[in-house]
Amino acid sequence: MEINAFMDDIIKKNPGQKEFHQAVVEIANNVIPFINRNPQYEEARILERICEPDRTIIFGVVWEDDDGRPQINKGYRVQFNNAIGPYKGGLRFHPTVNLSILKFLGFEQIFKNSLTTLPMGGGKGGSNFDPKGKSDKEVMRFCQAFMTELSKYIGEDIDVPAGDIGVGAREIGYMYGQYRKLHTEFTGALTGKGLNFGGSPLRTEATGYGCVYFASEMLHAIDQSLEGKKCVISGSGNVSIYTAEKLIEEGAQVITLSDSSGFIYDPKGINAEKLAYIKDLKEVRRGRISEYAKEFGCEFHAGEKPWKVECDIAFPSATQNEIDKDDAASLVKSGCKVVCEGANMPTTLDGIKVFESAGLMHAPSKAANAGGVAVSGLEMSQNALGLTWSSEEIDERLRVIMRRIYDQCVEYGTENGNVDYFMGANVAGFVKVADVMLAYGIS
Ligand code: NDP
Repeated sequence: MEINAFMDDIIKKNPGQKEFHQAVVEIANNVIPFINRNPQYEEARILERICEPDRTIIFGVVWEDDDGRPQINKGYRVQFNNAIGPYKGGLRFHPTVNLSILKFLGFEQIFKNSLTTLPMGGGKGGSNFDPKGKSDKEVMRFCQAFMTELSKYIGEDIDVPAGDIGVGAREIGYMYGQYRKLHTEFTGALTGKGLNFGGSPLRTEATGYGCVYFASEMLHAIDQSLEGKKCVISGSGNVSIYTAEKLIEEGAQVITLSDSSGFIYDPKGINAEKLAYIKDLKEVRRGRISEYAKEFGCEFHAGEKPWKVECDIAFPSATQNEIDKDDAASLVKSGCKVVCEGANMPTTLDGIKVFESAGLMHAPSKAANAGGVAVSGLEMSQNALGLTWSSEEIDERLRVIMRRIYDQCVEYGTENGNVDYFMGANVAGFVKVADVMLAYGIS
């Protein structure tokens, strides 16, 4: 198999979908050499088959704003691959959402879910609806209208969506309420639910905590720990806040957070008390991160990203392609030694090359941020069993899962004594799904 011919075909079949092309080439770079050593996958054309979603559902969402005017958005669900379990992946509500972005996210989710070792296939969905600036009632009406259509295609054994950018506890509550009403049943058709209606302890924290556990494994391999390490984080949403929380607990120094208007730099470090302020600011008041700078008297850099700040470890946790070639060079210059991806595909292909040639330890999102979907998988198990495990039990399972993911990266990514975490995650994620697809035959 030859990478250029393979990618030409992908681009021809999926014109204009640049984020999807990027996600595929990132996988293909590692998986094609592996396939060339294992011809059974080429004969069955497994990689080509994984790149084609099983189903793409696109629908209109009409809802009424507070002035009584009808509003129209687009809704999507990409059911990518269910070889190893029901389709599983979040819903994103953001004005930039389009089919290319959801296909990149759904494609990555196949490999990520495979790495967790839990039985979950890959999918993703969402809408170009922007919850920012909308009233609670408007968000509720949108979520209900969105679920009225989506509910036809999901279910606990079919497809189990969760949250992502713009979809947190509030949105999941409104959507699950509508699902339950339409189906006259109470089943685990969504994850990220509230604790009183089938949610799992620690699901809110899981992506951020898992990312820190992964970083800790990487440091452990070079006889280091998080204690005292200067950490820069981008974003100030679900993933960023709980990455910060666990880092603070582990004795690291968190010095930046951001949102789409800029970043705050707090050289003294964000402590538990300051983090409580951020949780209230972002999760309750839905304010801007610049307010933190005013409250605690530190710098706010409008319109900038935090990658020039001197640090040991970076946790990009906002959105895709937030680290380009120049940002990656800035991080190298600022002394960064480890990059652990909380957001999905936050580094451009050029950025990845900069990190590679500088010899940074770089963990890809499909491994490092898999803790969220892993605890979603545990939520599905708890729903099926009709019981709730304790936070301590979930935390222990999460740590074990993140360690297993780390071990798979090492097993499949070690060459000449060095670990290429991208290669490890991509090949290990591929093998499990590919072997199951071989077992099913051509179907
Ligand atoms: P949230 O909506 O909770 O937070 C997103 C944060 O990123 C906000 O601070 C937001 O700022 C910022 N942001 C979003 N888009 C942009 C942009 N284009 N430029 C600059 N900043 C931006 O989302 P999550 O924390 O849930 O998700 C963050 C990332 O983590 C995403 O890549 C997501 O796919 C990934 N992820 C999330 C998981 C989860 O469990 N939630 C699981 C695995 C991955 P603002 O408010 O100004 O828009």
